[in-house]
Amino acid sequence: MRATEQRLRAEIVATAHALDAAGLMPNKSGNVSARVPGGFVITPAGLPYADLTPELVVGLALDATSEPAGLRPSSEWRLHAAIYSARPDAAAIVHTHSPQATALACAGRGIPAFHYMIALAGGEIRCARYATFGTAELAASAVAGLEGRRAALLANHGVVAIGHSLRAAHSVAFEVENLAAQYLALLSAGLEPGLLEADELERVIGKFADYGRLVGHPVKSP
Ligand SMILES: [Zn+2]
Repeated sequence: MRATEQRLRAEIVATAHALDAAGLMPNKSGNVSARVPGGFVITPAGLPYADLTPELVVGLALDATSEPAGLRPSSEWRLHAAIYSARPDAAAIVHTHSPQATALACAGRGIPAFHYMIALAGGEIRCARYATFGTAELAASAVAGLEGRRAALLANHGVVAIGHSLRAAHSVAFEVENLAAQYLALLSAGLEPGLLEADELERVIGKFADYGRLVGHPVKSP
């Protein structure tokens, strides 16, 4: 195994542990993957995150049509494969059922550009059409929802976030949950958020690129 893949496997374990500890992966839900030459490596199905080690991370070819023998990959491996195929900019994917964002997704609501931190996702976050978990239909729906973005909600399901590193995908997933909590608080208070203008959003996206924040870890606001 290449040193790069070994490093990515260790990073997947660390990312999954951090997301689980933060409460973003309730009841073994969610999954984490990273691109490797010719395919990707992904968290296995049905294993408590506390028991996850780098050796238990599962490797899959990008064009896989069925699960490999041995340890089963996450049930959402088709979702990850479809995103890596459609998005050359995705080097890592984090999928969660994080509570606040999933609440919005269960109402079929995306997250509008009400706070500048949504620039981490590349703009307004869509809620992708519902399809059964683990299916190619869900994978296609997620790819459509992610068009031009680094995050999408999945209706009646959860969140998918991508990045050009595991740190970046982790950071986007973390911020989606934060924004969802803020948006739900506004809605709960009966308040209608003010939205950023498109040109202002573009300016913030440019500033984030300058700061290198699109590759950063879960971030504090400046
Ligand atoms: Zn899921």
